[in-house]
Amino acid sequence: MTSFNALLVEKQEDKSFTRSVTQRSLEDLPEGALLIKVHYSSLNYKDALSATGNPGVSRNFPHTPGIDAAGVVVSCDDDRFSEGDEVIVTGYDLGMNTAGGFGEYIRIPSEWAVAKPEGLSLKESMVIGTAGFTAGLSVLGLVEHGVTPDKGEILVTGATGGVGSVAVAILAKAGYSVVACTGKKEHESFLTSLGAIKVITRDELLENKERPMLKEQYAGAIDTVGGEYLAQAIKATQYGGAVTCCGLTASADLNVSVFPFILRGVSLLGIDSVQCPMPPRLKLWDKLASEWKLECLDDLTEEVSLGDVSQKIDAILKGQISGRTLLKL
Ligand code: NDP
Repeated sequence: MTSFNALLVEKQEDKSFTRSVTQRSLEDLPEGALLIKVHYSSLNYKDALSATGNPGVSRNFPHTPGIDAAGVVVSCDDDRFSEGDEVIVTGYDLGMNTAGGFGEYIRIPSEWAVAKPEGLSLKESMVIGTAGFTAGLSVLGLVEHGVTPDKGEILVTGATGGVGSVAVAILAKAGYSVVACTGKKEHESFLTSLGAIKVITRDELLENKERPMLKEQYAGAIDTVGGEYLAQAIKATQYGGAVTCCGLTASADLNVSVFPFILRGVSLLGIDSVQCPMPPRLKLWDKLASEWKLECLDDLTEEVSLGDVSQKIDAILKGQISGRTLLKL
């Protein structure tokens, strides 16, 4: 019987949640056609919510989080993949209520896996991970809305975070002028190295927040934090522009008048990476491996091992992480 290491989150009698690296066995994994030996995973904000028992993410404990995994197929009970294939898994139920990538093996429905595109290594695919995939979906949202680089500057909020940092880098690579908004002004050089032309603080973005509309400053915005930052982004978007919304690290609330929508035709584009259908999912992974392949992936990344993950979970919940955290298994 194969045993392997995994981060295990357990619910205690006092309803607190503990985390430890524990030996698991393949028999502990759920049913599924596809067994994968995981080589890399990555840390996302949602993993921290899962690891701290957020019922909107994970309800069944003991549980191994990890919404991302990249590895090699051990066996596949249907004909979708063959032994030895390199695959990427992000989204669906992985790491939510299905044991995830913070373990050396996962067993999942084969419909959740994507064949790794040639232009990316397994490691690079996990530097991108769900955060980078979501950044890609957000940029695609702007492109499909007709927000082209010549239209003006693009605002990115939560810019040093996983989604934000990859969004800054993809936008810059695609020729956009990026204004990065961050709570960590000391990371200004990190953001300019990714391609931002200007860095503003969260406080600057919140100036005049009582006003229903602001000066038209941005052709579009990628918001990763929600709340009043998203509201300010919508109010400062120029006529016909668009704002993408994917996250809630600041707040799940949105308090904004209808004026930007009915007077400036601004569009609010919802972004979901979890249930993203397979055809656009494959198309985006191909784009991330070619036209949008980032040269700065290494600069974006801190590599950690399973033993470090618990401490990184605490850090991401405090908003202290910059860029992407890669887990090597
Ligand atoms: P990270 O924790 O890596 O980044 C979030 C960033 O938000 C931080 O680095 C910080 O950036 C900023 N931030 C943190 N706390 C606050 C606060 N209280 N107020 C304002 N800004 C804050 O998370 P991810 O990038 O992985 O995810 C970002 C969001 O997107 C999360 O809510 C996540 O759940 C969501 N998400 C949604 C997906 C979808 O499919 N819709 C997929 C992936 C993520 P800075 O210091 O630079 O301001």
